[in-house]
Amino acid sequence: LAGGDRELLLNGIRDVPDHPKAGVVFKDITPLLADPRAFSVLTDALAAAVTRVGATAVAGLEARGFIIGAPAAVRAGVGFVPVRKAGKLPGETVGESYSLEYGTAEVELQADAIGPGDRVLIIDDVLATGGTAGASVRLIRRTGAEVVGVTVLLELGFLGGRELLLEALDDVPLEAL
Ligand code: AMP
Repeated sequence: LAGGDRELLLNGIRDVPDHPKAGVVFKDITPLLADPRAFSVLTDALAAAVTRVGATAVAGLEARGFIIGAPAAVRAGVGFVPVRKAGKLPGETVGESYSLEYGTAEVELQADAIGPGDRVLIIDDVLATGGTAGASVRLIRRTGAEVVGVTVLLELGFLGGRELLLEALDDVPLEAL
């Protein structure tokens, strides 16, 4: 994104120091969501990414990936699939763990949500360490579906998430708006 659209989105992202814990600067996108013009610009940009990579489904990462990924899927005319934190989804699920600073976390997908023949674009708000997106890539591939891209609103470059993720992605495009 460039020019006025870029400014509009940047103006809707607020830095909240020491949330959820000391030392973390949280990128709060709620002002962007509350501004219909900014939310629409974001939705258009994400929908364009869906079309560009030829995705047949959007996988949104809990929780803000749901909020921004779902309208983009609708606008692009493809389905939406939620990737959730472990224990939330009913029925048979597949899971992938990834390491955090202390301990591990797990993301899950319903086993019948996607499969061979599906081309999936992963959408989330912030790429930080890349752990969540990386686990989501592995998870989606395990169903037989193809990951055709990862698109985020913004990336925190100093955390090296791009490097971690690109290694796993192997030529699949990673885009930060
Ligand atoms: P990571 O797995 O480290 O890339 O973290 C990505 C997930 O955590 C995303 O779903 C983000 O929404 C959230 N996240 C991590 N760091 C931040 C941050 N500084 N501000 C807002 N969200 C963040």
